[in-house]
Amino acid sequence: MSVQDGLSRDGRIIIAGGGIGGLAAALGLANKGYSVTVLEQAAQFGEIGAGIQLGPNAFHALDRLGVGKAVRAEAVYIDQLTLMDSISELPIAVIPVGEQFRERFGNPYAVIHRTDIHRPLLEACERSSKISLLTRQKVVAFEVKGARVTVLTADGTRHEGDALIGADGLRSRIREQVVGDGGPLLSGHICYRAVLPIQEMPEDLRWNTVTLWAGPGTHLVHYPLRDRQLFNIVATFQGEPSRVATGHGEPGDRAELMFRFRKVGGKPKRILERPSTWKRWVLGDREPVTNWSAGPVTLLGDAAHPMHQYFAQGACMALEDAVCLADKVEVADGDFTKAFLAYQDRRIVRTGRVVVGARLMGSKVYHPSGVEAMVRNSVLGGKTPEEYYDMLDWLYGGPEEDRQSDRIGARSAA
Ligand SMILES: Cc1cc2nc3c(=O)[nH]c(=O)nc-3n(C[C@H](O)[C@H](O)[C@H](O)COP(=O)(O)OP(=O)(O)OC[C@H]3O[C@@H](n4cnc5c(N)ncnc54)[C@H](O)[C@@H]3O)c2cc1C
Repeated sequence: MSVQDGLSRDGRIIIAGGGIGGLAAALGLANKGYSVTVLEQAAQFGEIGAGIQLGPNAFHALDRLGVGKAVRAEAVYIDQLTLMDSISELPIAVIPVGEQFRERFGNPYAVIHRTDIHRPLLEACERSSKISLLTRQKVVAFEVKGARVTVLTADGTRHEGDALIGADGLRSRIREQVVGDGGPLLSGHICYRAVLPIQEMPEDLRWNTVTLWAGPGTHLVHYPLRDRQLFNIVATFQGEPSRVATGHGEPGDRAELMFRFRKVGGKPKRILERPSTWKRWVLGDREPVTNWSAGPVTLLGDAAHPMHQYFAQGACMALEDAVCLADKVEVADGDFTKAFLAYQDRRIVRTGRVVVGARLMGSKVYHPSGVEAMVRNSVLGGKTPEEYYDMLDWLYGGPEEDRQSDRIGARSAA
């Protein structure tokens, strides 16, 4: 039972999508006393079999949701974030994330299997008497009449509520009605994912780091998972936008991958040669928008602000969204329209900065060649840990609102 299970407020909130964002939002709202129904299109709630990085801001949000301890127990705590030049095989930037980092940001940097963050969220939702979790409910449309929202699913079922949150990802149906900006922007970035047992990872490269090998039009990321018994491997390249079709986890073409990475040095190549199978995703984002709410309907996570993965922050932002949304709903005390405007006011600039910043990271840090790559090496190399932390403070230090309340808390405690 959640600490807030005794609390009860009027209003049923429907959430479309039971990914990390949707479940986090359900938990945040239930903890405030609201009844929530989560509609998930899949036959089961779950996540894909791959890893994810969690910045300190994610742990702050997970603690606020009451699942920080459970997620911490499954996480792998790495020693550093390492940016390598995949051609010269030399380090460009090394950011230690040990004690000094934790002291600076109040939380660790960690990596985790996606299931191991989704499951604690799901279990906490299952324990809450305020949350109904429904599967095989593909949301196709919604309608607002007066103060009521009706959500229609593909099998013809109608769900009635007082508010609706679209947490239905990159190709959100709810966004289609609220924003109406068509499909995601497919800029030609394609990623291949694999998870290797540690024995299959080259022995000299079993580093306890998040390592990113940056090269012209390509980059490779790897880090350990699950007690360091597995390695998560993500290889991304810039393909031709016009040739890109949609793709989501279908078997990858090894020959295509090796061709794209043909210029990289021996170490990254040895890693790429190891997986016998890969899965392939076509990546997309969207232009940030200045409004993602319509009356008692709003968006959250990738539905609101899908981004390229180059800051490793999409899920972290969804968790921050969930905390902020629940706070604003509580303050507005049942006035969902007001709450959702206050929520998006807080989130649009911060998440927009990550969307825009991720594009820049892709072109200027991960994929440049020639002089642009030399500029990157010169600008990012040779800094002290504190200098790197200063550069990342806006992101890992969390939303400004939290910092203000921390400062007020510290002042009143003094
Ligand atoms: C290669 C890669 C690496 C990444 N690495 C990181 C990382 O290291 N750190 C990080 O923080 N983020 C990372 N991300 C981003 C992160 O995966 C996403 O931002 C995050 O999963 C978004 O969560 P979400 O709940 O908003 O959406 P989703 O995870 O897409 O969940 C949406 C849910 O809604 C359901 N759904 C969809 N449509 C409907 C419908 N019509 N009706 C009902 N249900 C529906 C889906 O089945 C799904 O369960 C990465 C992304 C990629 C592609």
